[in-house]
Amino acid sequence: MKNDPLRRVFEPIAIRGVEIPNRIVRTAHLTKLGMGTISDDLIGYHAARARGGVGLSILEATAVHPSSVLALVGYDDSVIPTLAKLMTTIRPLGMKVFQQLWHGGHVYPPPGGLPMRGASALPGPIAGMPAVPIGTEEVGDFVAAFAAAARLSAEAGIDGIEIAASHGYLMHQFLSPLTNTRDDRYGGSLENRMRFLAEVLAAVRNAVGPALPVGVRMGAGQVTGDLDEQDVAEVARLLVERGLIDYLNVSMGDYYAMHWMMGGMDRPAGYMLPFSGKVTGAVAGVPQIVTGRFRTLEEAEQVLRAGDADLVSMVRAHIADPDVVRKTRDGHPERVRPCIGCNQGCIARTSGVDARLGCTVNPAVGREARYGDDAIGVTASPRRVVVVGGGPAGMEAARVARLRGHDVTLYEAADRLGGSLNVARRAPRAQGMDDILDWYTAELRRLGVTCRLSALVDADDVAVADPDVVIVATGADPVLDGRPIAAPGEVVDGIGSPGVVSSVEALTRPAPAVGSRALVVDDVGQYEAVSVAEYLLQHGVHVTMATRLPMAGPLVDAAMRMTPALERLYSAPAEFAVLTRVTPASVQPRKATLRSLAGAAPMTVPADLVVLVTYKESRSGLAKELAGRVPDVRLVGDALAARDLQVAIREGNDAARSIA
Ligand code: SF4
Repeated sequence: MKNDPLRRVFEPIAIRGVEIPNRIVRTAHLTKLGMGTISDDLIGYHAARARGGVGLSILEATAVHPSSVLALVGYDDSVIPTLAKLMTTIRPLGMKVFQQLWHGGHVYPPPGGLPMRGASALPGPIAGMPAVPIGTEEVGDFVAAFAAAARLSAEAGIDGIEIAASHGYLMHQFLSPLTNTRDDRYGGSLENRMRFLAEVLAAVRNAVGPALPVGVRMGAGQVTGDLDEQDVAEVARLLVERGLIDYLNVSMGDYYAMHWMMGGMDRPAGYMLPFSGKVTGAVAGVPQIVTGRFRTLEEAEQVLRAGDADLVSMVRAHIADPDVVRKTRDGHPERVRPCIGCNQGCIARTSGVDARLGCTVNPAVGREARYGDDAIGVTASPRRVVVVGGGPAGMEAARVARLRGHDVTLYEAADRLGGSLNVARRAPRAQGMDDILDWYTAELRRLGVTCRLSALVDADDVAVADPDVVIVATGADPVLDGRPIAAPGEVVDGIGSPGVVSSVEALTRPAPAVGSRALVVDDVGQYEAVSVAEYLLQHGVHVTMATRLPMAGPLVDAAMRMTPALERLYSAPAEFAVLTRVTPASVQPRKATLRSLAGAAPMTVPADLVVLVTYKESRSGLAKELAGRVPDVRLVGDALAARDLQVAIREGNDAARSIA
């Protein structure tokens, strides 16, 4: 055991007498799998991670007061039966479960048009409207609300309570000099600003009794005047000194700088440590949790050995694969399906209205009971399955069909697996694409899928193989017909010029000469245009990004990845500019003309190269040719209709799973 490379990860730890079986935590994260009350899907989601070996999970933000509700409600008796059911399900699996109690303050408007409540009247950065400050004598009502919610959770059998004082929510608003401009006993000095939190913690302790752990989540903001790491550390130190907390959960960022809260694939593992470490290094006496895009137990072990924390949170790693701990403990870390840091299937979905948590690489999220790999089951009637196309949809189809026990042969026209991933991975900071491609490649080999590479097959070739089922996953091609999405009745003059290329060509061909100029026309608003722009800028090409949309990369922004992307693009050595609400009108030698969609005058921009990032046309011909020649033909992913990576993987999974 002494030389066990994961010795620290698997050391149990007690928080106020509650034993956590190992050091891996899933901190609170919005799922919307239960709106109002805990649903069976939410229980299934957490139970899968409990079976996977996680030590501690903290349930998502649970509202303590009707003036702020995000998903779960914890302020009436309805919480007890559903939370009790969750605890009854999970307790035998060994994972401990804490509940985060939360009030969002001025971040999100409450339902039904009620006014937001906050520390001060300052408008929140999301809602953009002022909150009604909580009155001095009213603070006690909110203290009581936290205590009442804690009591209900305790009655339901929860293992511990966490107070959300991070990420710009109400308690953070009181702590921060930026958002707390009060002149009563809850504003001004640090002692006054932390008074509300201290009163809440004391009331919660009183409500739940001496046995239950009570902790707090805190973190520094990242904009001028906000709460800094020194203040967070001082507040935490005082809370420990006064016996008010049993653990400290350190994060960073708030809604003024959202991208710090959930860094994407451009950020390294542990990217928060230079900030959160200033807090954990200054506080002693209680176990401390850190987070920040950790993906493997090896990374967690390093944190523990360095003494940066006592527990390590791995949320997205466990969204992508519920079995990170179990697979690693069993000696197979390479079998862990990697989180690619796209933020697309998880954060971008839950930040949408009523959308539920998902995952780009794991189609089972939120429906684990019926859809997890554990629920696939081996067929009693193995079939000969041919998959045509080795992109994401095809690889997932082959993987799941093989797990079902079918005899699977995959044909790929290129000399390596990957399909569209092989294009996406050429962009800078796209390590996640390599990670998932490497995982699929290794899994298909391990499972015994026969992969025929450099095999461009037609319908005759497939029919000769005499398959029972053919899954066609042949992808899609960019459409360069010159009809912009914003004006499909028009054709861009000069679209056939040699200087006009697709995003696929831009990323796979040698970049133009250093100092030349490119116009990247983004018709779709996804990460693809960022990839192309960054690739060209990295090669010294000046880039103008033009889009019909009101902002660059709106879908990337929903995944909290656009701000860091723009920071990189604007700081590149070559020039970068963005033009919005425009559409291409014509391409001439070394320049292009853009038409305004907002009534402004047309503009001409220098362009040695014009890259069109636009929609794609499915390659579905093979499926049509096979119809009637083989018993069962299924079309999946972009070959059915060009969409995104998440849909491609899900459809590949669905198709293989449903083979009788
Ligand atoms: Fe990771 Fe992307 Fe899945 Fe989110 S959607 S957990 S970032 S792979």
